[in-house]
Amino acid sequence: MQVIERLRNTKKTLFSFEILPPLKGKSIQSIYDGIDPLLEFDPAFVNVTYHREEFIYKKREKGYLEKIAIKKRPGTVGICAAIKNKYNIEAVPHLICGGFTREETENALIDLNFLGIDNVLALRGDPIKTEPHFIPENGGNKYAVDLVRQIVDLNQGKYIDENIENATPTNFSIGVAGYPEKHFESPNMQADIRRLKEKIDAGAHYVVTQLFFDNKKFFAFVKACRDAGIDVPIIPGIKPIESLRHITFLPKFFNIDLPSELTDQLEQCTSNEETREVGTKWAIQQSKELVEFGVPCIHYYTMGKSKTVRRIAQAVFKK
Ligand code: FAD
Repeated sequence: MQVIERLRNTKKTLFSFEILPPLKGKSIQSIYDGIDPLLEFDPAFVNVTYHREEFIYKKREKGYLEKIAIKKRPGTVGICAAIKNKYNIEAVPHLICGGFTREETENALIDLNFLGIDNVLALRGDPIKTEPHFIPENGGNKYAVDLVRQIVDLNQGKYIDENIENATPTNFSIGVAGYPEKHFESPNMQADIRRLKEKIDAGAHYVVTQLFFDNKKFFAFVKACRDAGIDVPIIPGIKPIESLRHITFLPKFFNIDLPSELTDQLEQCTSNEETREVGTKWAIQQSKELVEFGVPCIHYYTMGKSKTVRRIAQAVFKK
């Protein structure tokens, strides 16, 4: 089923979560071990992230350096197919512009279509470490909106090769990213929301937000989106703080703030266990408020670890 259909037809707040493909060399069992404890909360869908190649330099003879591309977490499409097959749950692959030509994107979408996967989250991707800013592939999509347009074209049976006749249309439900605290490259919130509206106007069906810890920012974001004419479902993304390292890592990596009420509590913590306790209680409180607000779904960033998200789901979604 398309994710957008689940979102449109629900009367209660749904539960969903995101997982990462395992590091190369690890088996798919680690994915199942992360999903199994969350099945009882009836996940509406599971998102699977996509990780671009990284470049490393290897020293060769005579001091030459060889640039080598390595992909540490391959397997997004395979994992989605495996999840659908094993659990009969909708799996949503993240598809990015970076590193793909439009031709390669089209081929990836054809593979997904043949596998019976009718959902994608369309993203631009971040710049790779060796780039000062995002550089699209030659002949690739530059912004997520371009990727959305390509998927919409395929949904209308329009392939890159105009000579293909009587082409079978695909049927993708398309999610896009939104930022309650603004995307880090955007000059201001209004400009970012205008860009988000372009993605919706291009044919995206729903929005999943970047993680955030201050519900007031999410509520203000939803209002600003509605005022701007964005009327599709907006799904909040929640990540519990689970370690002392998260306190500095999450704001830096995701360009978000931690509210002072939360940092006041976190500053008292001296161990990861204490930090996790504070982070879990905060996420439960956030989730309950979001349910009260009437969000269609809450999307949890598990980062491959389901224990804490299970505790939150037990407090928020248990029947
Ligand atoms: P866009 O919507 O293209 O926006 C990027 C920036 O460009 C914004 O500042 C926007 O305001 C601006 N912009 C947009 N259109 C235009 C235009 N026409 N002209 C000028 N400026 C424009 N990354 C991964 O690599 N893999 C993942 O699996 C992944 N999953 C994610 C899941 C979620 C829910 C979220 C929120 C992010 C995820 N990301 C992932 C990170 C994402 O790729 C980055 O945040 C990226 O920098 C922006 O992606 P986007 O799709 O929001 O880009």
